[in-house]
Amino acid sequence: MISIAKPIIGEDEVNAVTEVLRSGVIAEGQKVKDFEAAFAQYSGTSFAVAVNSGTAALHAALLAHGIGAGDEVITTPFTFVATSNSVLFTGAKPVFADIIEDTFNIDPESIIEKITPRTKAIIPVHLYGQAADMKAIMDIAEDKDLIIIEDACQAHGATFEGKSVGSFGEGTFSFYPTKNMTTGEGGIITTSDKDIANKARMIRSHGSKQRYLHEMLGFNLRMTDIAAAIGLVQLGKIGDFNRSRIKNAEYLTKSLKNIKGLILPHVDKRCGHVFHQYTVRIRGDISRDEVVSSLNKMDIGTGIYYPLPIHKQPFYKELGYNDSLPVSECSSKEVLSLPIHPSLNESEIDAISGSLQEIMEKRFP
Ligand SMILES: *Cc1c(COP(=O)(O)O)cnc(C)c1O
Repeated sequence: MISIAKPIIGEDEVNAVTEVLRSGVIAEGQKVKDFEAAFAQYSGTSFAVAVNSGTAALHAALLAHGIGAGDEVITTPFTFVATSNSVLFTGAKPVFADIIEDTFNIDPESIIEKITPRTKAIIPVHLYGQAADMKAIMDIAEDKDLIIIEDACQAHGATFEGKSVGSFGEGTFSFYPTKNMTTGEGGIITTSDKDIANKARMIRSHGSKQRYLHEMLGFNLRMTDIAAAIGLVQLGKIGDFNRSRIKNAEYLTKSLKNIKGLILPHVDKRCGHVFHQYTVRIRGDISRDEVVSSLNKMDIGTGIYYPLPIHKQPFYKELGYNDSLPVSECSSKEVLSLPIHPSLNESEIDAISGSLQEIMEKRFP
């Protein structure tokens, strides 16, 4: 089976972890500080605050901005549920805007329609490794005086007009094993606002700057030095990882381009896409789920990100959500992600494209 994702952990990571374990300092310590400095530099920001998941990064970034009950935060329903759950954690209300058909990212025009006097922030998600339209979104934010928290959990190293994601507003990244780089579990907030960085640090550790002096309500969101040691090694490799993903994507696109019924990933010219996922659209008159089961039978792993938009999730329906967001709803039935990770070799990519071609040709002989 060619798997949809595969973390790459080498001897360097093993040695880095061993060194931390032998040092006796295994929770948050110097490795976390070093990782934060290196990640801030990588993202083109002044500060980074490491936490224990991407979800924690989103939660802490919202809290650092004082977002809470009575506030609304506009985001996309076509994302992992953590994006909007983090808004719920704060007591604020997630408001869903629809997406753009060709990039699957939040639609700036739909954002404008959803703004009310209660709107405080926008969380654009850089889905599949491609930045949202940050030009249009930053213009809206400036015009309406809104906070931007980027969900860059799938987009380490991605750019928009040459600028790194996570440096437009506050950035939030995940280091879960399936992401472009990993620390096991982990996350980080990037910012160039010193006050926000300091607040996020306090929220990370029970509202304290100084041990046992608590100035606000906080949590335990800390990253361990064990995780940070893995992150430092992975950060040294992320450039190569992303280059492999981009190369694999180019090769797949070349192999798949003449297949009827298949819509290939659209890369916005302004974006440096890092292909966290290589996601095609299976035209509506063909059953995506049949294509998936045929591929799986041929030992090709697949992913559906995401099969049900958040506003249609049982829990959100219980909260009273009943929006109509047609592009998101249609996309969730048509998307199919193919393996693209850096460990793939050319013959495996040939197997992926060959199998898909064979399946699609049966539908369009
Ligand atoms: C992975 C992911 C998250 C959550 O990150 P965790 O580290 O799993 O908490 C949030 N948003 C998006 C878009 C993600 O892909």
